[in-house]
Amino acid sequence: MERHLFREEHELFRQAFRRFLDKEVLPHQERWREQGIVDREAWRKAGREGFLCTWMEEKWGGPGGDFLHAVVISEEMARAYDSGFAIALHSDIVVPYLHAFGSDEQRQRWLPGCASGELVTAIAMTEPGTGSDLAAIQTTARRDGDDYVLNGAKTFISNGMLCDLVIVAAKTDADPARAHQSVTLFVVEAGRPGFLKAKKLAKMGLPAQDTAELAFEDCRIPAANRLGPEGSGFPALMQKLQQERLMVAIGAQASAERILEDTIAYTKDRKAFGKPISKFQNTQFKLAECATEVEVGRAFLDRLCAEHVAGKYLVRECSMAKLWQTEMLGRVVDTCLQFFGGYGYMLEYPVTRAYMDARVQRIYAGTNEIMKVIIAKQLGL
Ligand SMILES: Cc1cc2nc3c(=O)[nH]c(=O)nc-3n(C[C@H](O)[C@H](O)[C@H](O)COP(=O)(O)OP(=O)(O)OC[C@H]3O[C@@H](n4cnc5c(N)ncnc54)[C@H](O)[C@@H]3O)c2cc1C
Repeated sequence: MERHLFREEHELFRQAFRRFLDKEVLPHQERWREQGIVDREAWRKAGREGFLCTWMEEKWGGPGGDFLHAVVISEEMARAYDSGFAIALHSDIVVPYLHAFGSDEQRQRWLPGCASGELVTAIAMTEPGTGSDLAAIQTTARRDGDDYVLNGAKTFISNGMLCDLVIVAAKTDADPARAHQSVTLFVVEAGRPGFLKAKKLAKMGLPAQDTAELAFEDCRIPAANRLGPEGSGFPALMQKLQQERLMVAIGAQASAERILEDTIAYTKDRKAFGKPISKFQNTQFKLAECATEVEVGRAFLDRLCAEHVAGKYLVRECSMAKLWQTEMLGRVVDTCLQFFGGYGYMLEYPVTRAYMDARVQRIYAGTNEIMKVIIAKQLGL
């Protein structure tokens, strides 16, 4: 069905971003996968061309677009089978915290660098002992004069090795009865004594995306690096996680669309028993099912994006999208991979890598079980 989400300016922007991908991303993807990290220079180039923090106002150094420009970028990254260059994580998940909860002084200090690609960001919530249960984090921030002293460990942090700034969730109050009121967010710059980028983690998928363990050992940061008042971290995270979940859903939907398109083409080309495999009824039925799922998913997601752009705060629907779109991607990529036969098991085939990249989407940004917990709560259960 025809999409009505975008204006002409977004489609022009899409063409420009495709050119950027062709020139600055596709030729490097294999090397980035091998080295397990994206070149820093690629971030600067993306910033220079206005592809970072697309929604940010010009007064803070952004290109002055809107959320739909971010949607375009995520869709095109998925279409390019790129799972390494974490533009959406930086631009649409982490930087919005600085923008929404930072003081004017903090915005002035950090936002222009975020938009130009000079500052790459990460967010560190998860710890070795807890992920889903955010209120149970153990990292502490103790006030000491004009400073805070951070101690603790974080794990699975995307952009962990590359980041220049990391937003860290830490406890400023040890009282277990106030677990939800004791989380505070801090911005820690790379290079501060006591902030260690401890280990780059080997993963099943997302080979070009650096995912790291971070450690804070008596890491002293000025109170001016606290984001919002003490104890405001938990509600801030709950608010911003909606867009994070929506971004995951947008990527999952676009991935499923690309994989389906490529699989249809492959089955028309590949022959067995004297005819294209697309002529077997099993192929037709399976791909018809996938196409139906993809089309239905697209209608829901575009509607949700439109409402999100209009400023509606849709906890239930963002959780539903994260849940449904990532489960749908899992079904579609598994079904499609089968049509590639042995080639679907070879790493040189994009569908194979897409299969491995897809698995984590049901785990991160809140597991799909946690999405069901949230949806059930929203249903009043
Ligand atoms: C590649 C990758 C990148 C990541 N990037 C980041 C990042 O940048 N920043 C960051 O902070 N984190 C990041 N994460 C962490 C991710 O968000 C967590 O792994 C995730 O939230 C789950 O937490 P956990 O691993 O501790 O699992 P656990 O919380 O231990 O959960 C284990 C299992 O128990 C289930 N479970 C837990 N609670 C409930 C419940 N109430 N009801 C039913 N089932 C439940 C879960 O669904 C899961 O199946 C990343 C993870 C990966 C793998």
